[in-house]
Formats: sequence, structure tokens, C-alpha cells
Amino acid sequence: MSDGEFDIIARYFDRHVAREDVLLGIGDDAAVLSLPANRRLVIAMDTLVDGVHFPKGTAAADIGYRALAVNLSDLAAMGAQPEWMTLSLCAPVSDPAWFDGFSRGLFELADRYQVALVGGDTVKGPLAVTVQIAGTVEADRWLTRAGARPGDLLFVSGVPGEAAAGLAVIQGSLPVTSATRHLRQRFLRPEPRVSLGRCLRNMATAAMDVSDGLLTDLDKLAGASGCGARIDVDALPLSSALLDTFARDACIDYALAGGDDYELLFTIPPQRVVELPSDVACTQIGVMTEREVQCWRDGNPFVPRRRGYDHFDM
Ligand code: ADP
Ligand code: MG
Repeated sequence: MSDGEFDIIARYFDRHVAREDVLLGIGDDAAVLSLPANRRLVIAMDTLVDGVHFPKGTAAADIGYRALAVNLSDLAAMGAQPEWMTLSLCAPVSDPAWFDGFSRGLFELADRYQVALVGGDTVKGPLAVTVQIAGTVEADRWLTRAGARPGDLLFVSGVPGEAAAGLAVIQGSLPVTSATRHLRQRFLRPEPRVSLGRCLRNMATAAMDVSDGLLTDLDKLAGASGCGARIDVDALPLSSALLDTFARDACIDYALAGGDDYELLFTIPPQRVVELPSDVACTQIGVMTEREVQCWRDGNPFVPRRRGYDHFDM
């Protein structure tokens, strides 16, 4: 027998919350939270739509994980600490196995970051998931896209391009190897860079997370900062998983324009590079300039095939 709306909420989402700052959680008309006096509230929201943000047929647990991961990534880019979330779930049928998988994927990541689910909405319709994340940051400083200066070094965490390559693996049904399995996981289970963002709070002049593609997102960071950037294409950290699966030029295209990586793109003054934490691989891929975002490869200007993804520009 399938569950009704209130059974779904009670069974899959209304869990015991261990946080003392949740004064009132799921079950009333709204949640009531207690905010530390010396911190600022930071909120963000991201929606995942079936067939748009993940391929139809994606496992429910992966959708649950990803819905939170993309939101955690936004708070990481602000240097904030994630604390609470709300969830709006639009599902076509009341399928217990699907809700069970979805909630397991969601809470797997929520528990890792001790984020409490404090409310939401459950409706019937085409599959779409919205998570709103709320966190806090010290009152004196948070990260934005706006503070980069010419001469700052441009860094990216992890291996940009792997997620888009992973989506291509899934959609092209490429044979299963350890490389294609790794790329697939990078798309389905991105690692939000929360601890890196917390470290960068006092170090980076600007930061953002890469969701639409490295170049198109760098355009936004450079634009917000009122400067330009030069990317050294030869410095892009291409992994063996990428290079074992795709031709080098395709790997470069994924790295520059792929999107879905949820890595952090950030700028730091040269003298602060030594302070970068060592637990997350970060690579210098360029430098901030006075104007224009340009790519260079083998000592020559390089025009990329594309820059990234835009929902309304297809
Ligand atoms: P209302 O009608 O007042 O908006 P609902 O009946 O929609 O409230 O929801 C009942 C309670 O369950 C509320 O506390 C709401 O925040 C919570 N809730 C509903 N759906 C979800 C969900 N998917 N995840 C977490 N909490 C939910
Ligand atoms: Mg109400």
C-alpha cells in the first residue's frame, strides 16, 4: 500500500534532531531556530529537476545525496558552516522504495555535516527536489565573488571536468572500468568542499563554486570583482580517470566548460599560497588580470569550444 503525504513525512523525513538550536522542527507550521549572537545567517537554495539536472532513472539515493551536496557547495563557497535545511519534494507517485532510497541518500550527507532537516513541503507532480540550506558564518568575514584583484592567483580544488565526463559516461553507457566508475561517482556524488571553504574564509579574496562550467563561472567571479583572468590550459589538473576514458582535447573541454563539479574556484594573493590546507588538492590554473577572461595553451591564446551551461540559452 502506498503512503499518504503525512505518512511520507513521518516515515522518511521526521527524524529525531539532536541539535539544541532547533527549538521547533518538523510538525508545526514553521521551524524555529536559535542563532548564535556573533554569527550571520547564510542561506541558499537549489532545485534539481528530473531529466534536467540528473538523467531520468537516476537512483533515488543519488538524487537525495546530490540535492543536499549542491546546496552545501554554495555555503562552502561563502566560507559558511551549514546548519539546517528545508526540503521541497515534488514526486509523481508514492513509492516507498523510492522515498526510502531518497531519504537515505539525503541523510547520509546530512549526518556527515550534522545538518538538521527542519521542515519542507511534499507534493505530487513531476519529479523535482528543492533543498534550502541555512548556515552561519562569523560576523566579521565571509567569502564573496567580488574581492579578486589583478595579480591574485587563481586556484581550483579537485579535478574540474570529471563530473561532466561522468555524465557523458552515464548517458553514453560506456563500459564499466575503474576510470568510468570513478567519473560516474564524481557526477552522482560530488564532494562539497565545506572544510576548504571554512579555511579560505580568511585567505581568499574571492570564491565561488563551479556548477555551470569553469569558464562561465570564472566570467561571473571576474565580473563581480571588476577584473579579468588568464587561465593556463596546460595547468588544468586532468586525472588519469579522465585521460584513460577520453581524448586529451575532450578532457580539456570538460574541464573548462563541463559544470556539475561543485569544486571551489578561488583567488588568493601570492604570499598566502603557503597557508592553503593540504587535505584537499588545489591547483593554480591561472592569474587574475586587469580585464578579459582569456585562455592560453602552449604559449598561445586558446579559444575554447564552449564556456559552460545556461538553462535559458540552449
Ligand atoms: P503546512 O500545511 O502548514 O504548510 P504541511 O502539512 O505541508 O504544513 O507539512 C507539515 C509539516 O511537515 C511541516 O512542519 C513541514 O515543514 C513538514 N514537511 C512537509 N514536507 C516535508 C519534507 N519533505 N521534508 C521535511 N519536512 C516536511
Ligand atoms: Mg501551515
